Amino acid sequence: MSLRKWIYAFEEGDASMKPLLGGKGANLADMTRAGLPVPPGFTITTDACRAFYEKGEKLPDGLPEQLRTAVAELERRTGRAFGGIDRPLLVSVRSGAVTSMPGMMDTILNVGLNDETVEGLAAETGNPRFARDCYRRLIEMFGNVVFGVDARAFERVKEETKSRYRARGDVDLPEDGLKELAQRYRALILEKTGRDFPQNAHEQLLLAVEAVFRSWNNPRAIVYRKAHRIPDDQGTAVNIQAMVFGNLGDDSGTGVVFTRDPSTGLRALFGEYLPNAQGEDVVAGIRTPMPIARLKTDFPDVYAQLVRLAEQLERRYRDMQDVEFTVERGRLYLLQTRSGKRTARAAVRIAADLVREGLISKEEALMRIEPSHLDGLLHRSIDENGPLDVVAEGLPASPGAASGRIAFDADTAVERSKTGEPVLLVRPETTPDDIHGVIAAEGVLTTRGGMTSHAAVVARGMGKPCVCGCESVRIDERERVLVAGGRIFREGDWLSIDGSTGRVIAGRVSLKEPELSEELELLLSWADEVKRLSVRANADTPEDAARARRFGAEGIGLCRTEHMFLSPERLPVVRSMILDEGKRREEALARLLELQQSDFEAIFEAMDGLPVTVRLLDPPLHEFLPDLETLLLRRQRLDFTADGADGADAEPEREELDRLIRAVRQHRESNPMLGLRGCRLGVVRPDIYEMQVRAIFRAAKACSARGVDVRPEIMVPLVGIPGELRFFREMIDRIAGEELGESRGRPPYRVGTMIEVPRAALVADAIAEYADFFSFGTNDLTQMTFGFSRDDAENKFLGAYLERGLLTDNPFQTLDADGVGRLVRFAVERGKAVRPDLKTSICGEHGGDPNSIRFCHNAGLDAVSCSPYRVPLARVAAAQAAIEAGRKVETKS
Ligand code: ADP
Ligand code: MG
Ligand code: MG
Repeated sequence: MSLRKWIYAFEEGDASMKPLLGGKGANLADMTRAGLPVPPGFTITTDACRAFYEKGEKLPDGLPEQLRTAVAELERRTGRAFGGIDRPLLVSVRSGAVTSMPGMMDTILNVGLNDETVEGLAAETGNPRFARDCYRRLIEMFGNVVFGVDARAFERVKEETKSRYRARGDVDLPEDGLKELAQRYRALILEKTGRDFPQNAHEQLLLAVEAVFRSWNNPRAIVYRKAHRIPDDQGTAVNIQAMVFGNLGDDSGTGVVFTRDPSTGLRALFGEYLPNAQGEDVVAGIRTPMPIARLKTDFPDVYAQLVRLAEQLERRYRDMQDVEFTVERGRLYLLQTRSGKRTARAAVRIAADLVREGLISKEEALMRIEPSHLDGLLHRSIDENGPLDVVAEGLPASPGAASGRIAFDADTAVERSKTGEPVLLVRPETTPDDIHGVIAAEGVLTTRGGMTSHAAVVARGMGKPCVCGCESVRIDERERVLVAGGRIFREGDWLSIDGSTGRVIAGRVSLKEPELSEELELLLSWADEVKRLSVRANADTPEDAARARRFGAEGIGLCRTEHMFLSPERLPVVRSMILDEGKRREEALARLLELQQSDFEAIFEAMDGLPVTVRLLDPPLHEFLPDLETLLLRRQRLDFTADGADGADAEPEREELDRLIRAVRQHRESNPMLGLRGCRLGVVRPDIYEMQVRAIFRAAKACSARGVDVRPEIMVPLVGIPGELRFFREMIDRIAGEELGESRGRPPYRVGTMIEVPRAALVADAIAEYADFFSFGTNDLTQMTFGFSRDDAENKFLGAYLERGLLTDNPFQTLDADGVGRLVRFAVERGKAVRPDLKTSICGEHGGDPNSIRFCHNAGLDAVSCSPYRVPLARVAAAQAAIEAGRKVETKS
């Protein structure tokens, strides 16, 4: 005989018992203890649910007996009799999981009614219509939940009955109609299942409890658990609670209220109320409820009670609450409370307000923000006030909204953007060759590819709106038209996208600029007080730098010079630098020196007083050369036209093309990612790096002379051999001497390296001899540590790895702490052993990922660097990491 305790009265539980009592049960217990008006009841534990499944869906030993005792106690408390005719006790049998799964499982109301007790209820309340209404509701819910009869079958019977009685709504059915309805429901159950609705109250209760346990495994609950990563073996608790009645007349009703506005966070009651109704009616949408504000005029007493209780609940749970309540003849009861779901905007506002109201600490406020949700707050958004002509929907790949004229390829996007009008790049998908088009465009729309496709990743990195994988849109590249929602759009037509929702909208929409709300600024200032990591931004242009600064970046952690090479005016000069020899090459280098100097000056000025890390040229040179296939095609076409027409004229063009083709062939590598790139380029072609370094120092000197506080940091990419860095350190110091002189007032500079080749991490101590800082290029480091090429992995096999559980996260999104992270820790330790003042940081997409930021904090790094738009998110994540680490230390000691 098991002595296990399966049941806890509300008085016995408390808020800390969620794993055993479920969220609803624990909160009902806690509210009961706090003296709040909760109808009495008790909770059957989640243990009992697990035991139920272990026994092959049978109630565990001892539970039926304990249930009887608990019901007897409830009878005593309420002065009512379960199954009794005189003052019958009715209860609800409610599901309630540990993690809230709203509406996924079942609940049955009015258990305890039968042909006799319904008469007792009628006599007691003097309201026979009400008693009949409760009875038919019980039979309906019971039939559906316990016997599995389709809810729509009941609905049909109800509609028939209503039309017979000429009743428009449920509330218009007279007593006789409700009586008839109950009988017809019973006939329906009998017909469908061969079982009769049980008259015995205790039998009803046992069957209801079993059915609620079983609802843990109904299909929608299973899907919901999978989506929210809720363990399948958690089980649900069952709450059994004395009924209160919102359907007793017009002085009764039921509703749901949020203690603050869940979309704006404003401090005002928000919700709905339905007079003369029972719980389920509000959600079921049977009648249109009235806004809670109407309560104030129609039932001022109830409203006043509600305001008072809302305040009490907030003070107790120190958060915005989502509350179910019922009014029985003017008296208010609480049936459920939980932390309310809210938008990112509301979350920020509520967290800040709760601190200002003295309910929570700044640290708690910070911990309550989901950093990834901030992303959506910092982009331009669609002004939803006007009409929107939505023609398609794709994946919301990069937040923010954009309107622009359609361009079907990158070159056209660049060409059109020169007119100053916004452009939207529309492609089946994008590749690295389209990068200039992405830069020129306001946003990107693709018809193929998922959330980690090239377009999505690049757009997110640049903070540009992107909608991906919009399969219902068809692009005809030959005709240069796009077909969406049965309509045709031509190149140059206006189109808009909303990367936060995936919407594609015809025409131009008006956009709202992002701004940090006062509350967000406040919260971020608190984050800065507690975080240890410094947050920098990846920015390649003065505009990005300025934006990063506005969002609170403490410097630039990665300025990629290659983006400065890609504009259409510069590309020919860059090509000449790569392809030409002798004088032409020298001229190209001199021209680039000037251009780069002015780029750097603009960036240094935007970052006055803050450090700027400039990375020397990194990608393989072929990225600046045209695509071989395109060239060959052009060559072929030239031959073709030249044959027919005036052959001599085409000769110089042909020669030029052949030269390009030879050069491109010569620069072709079988594996560019592991080829001539990064500092290897600097070894083979030192003049390119010399030019860049000179440009940096000249810019620094010029800015400094203008009174700008410049702090340049030069970063050498792809070092794996200590000698590489020694070579460049000598080069950089020599040029610094030449350009800046040895005078005292010269701006100080630092030299460092990226650690992105595993070997660099392994010999970090030797590399640190020449480095003032390490910046972990975690994208390349991940690729080379796993031996995955990112594009190939994400397109071909990473999905399968994640599905099979071979990896829990995409290592390109969340830093792989076990492998890559170990290299990072090792390199930091070795590096600092040699140079205790060595500064360490990461840059790349991981720098904007909350989990990776936590890793960086714990690994003792000094800084993270991420895209400008993610700076606020990173500041919050860095603060959370510091708070968490602090709490761990506290609990240990
Ligand atoms: P869900 O998880 O679907 O919200 P609930 O168990 O919270 O299910 O109950 C469904 C509805 O019935 C809610 O509106 C609730 O307020 C109402 N309800 C539950 N128990 C009672 C009760 N004892 N008296 C009156 N209404 C109740
Ligand atoms: Mg509920
Ligand atoms: Mg790299």
